[in-house]
Amino acid sequence: MTVPGVHKRMLSDCFSAALHFPAVRALAVKGNLVYSNKSALLLDMNGTFMFGEDNFGIYEDFSKYYHKIGGRLSKEDANSVIRSAYSYLDKRYPDEKYRHSFPTVEDTIRNAVDKSLPEEEISKLVDTFAQHEIGNIPSEYIDVLHRLSKKYQLAVVIDIWAPKEQWLNLFEESDINKLFSASSFSSDHGMVKPSPKPFELVMKQLNISRERCLVIGDSIRRDLGGASAAGIDCILVGNATHINALGCYKNLLELSNDLY
Ligand SMILES: [Mg+2]
Repeated sequence: MTVPGVHKRMLSDCFSAALHFPAVRALAVKGNLVYSNKSALLLDMNGTFMFGEDNFGIYEDFSKYYHKIGGRLSKEDANSVIRSAYSYLDKRYPDEKYRHSFPTVEDTIRNAVDKSLPEEEISKLVDTFAQHEIGNIPSEYIDVLHRLSKKYQLAVVIDIWAPKEQWLNLFEESDINKLFSASSFSSDHGMVKPSPKPFELVMKQLNISRERCLVIGDSIRRDLGGASAAGIDCILVGNATHINALGCYKNLLELSNDLY
């Protein structure tokens, strides 16, 4: 069940809350030394430099955008398709069984939600799903990404459910699209964190050793868990703290001071 205002990845991480360990924040003080051997930052997106994402609460009217782009299903039908697709994917997202074969939004709508939908409506529904999944990138985070890119190679390891086009457009509009030397979007290949594979994919693109990399993310389970499985050091941002993290910071802005 979807809880309004509660982030899907937060729900997935709830069980890790008991592992939080505030004392590790002290390590952050020595940041510059700890990070001096790192040359590439592998960034998570949601909760790390994008915020306000995953707007699938019970009061969302998906049909507004869907009709704006020419969708022909009724308001009720369009809303029902998006809600069913979200619910189907939300159930599977934490399930290890789908870690390397997470379903696409299109396949979900086409095969699990309604097999009788007209073909031309499916792409509009997928587009609508993406519109509600995407968040925004605050200008101070855009600035910090530019600043970090002067010292480090930047890469993104991103879990999204819809196809990446809207995110690539936003990266371009925000003028950060050229900052990333490597990327992994889970909807391209179906591999979701905490699998180590998306991290390994990005390291291969960068042609870099794991020792030179630093994962930065806000999820204990997905970012720290995936980074640890791939043998890469991880820094947590946001409210998460964990003894296995190399450091824990309020946000990427605070961390950037120690990375410099
Ligand atoms: Mg995140």
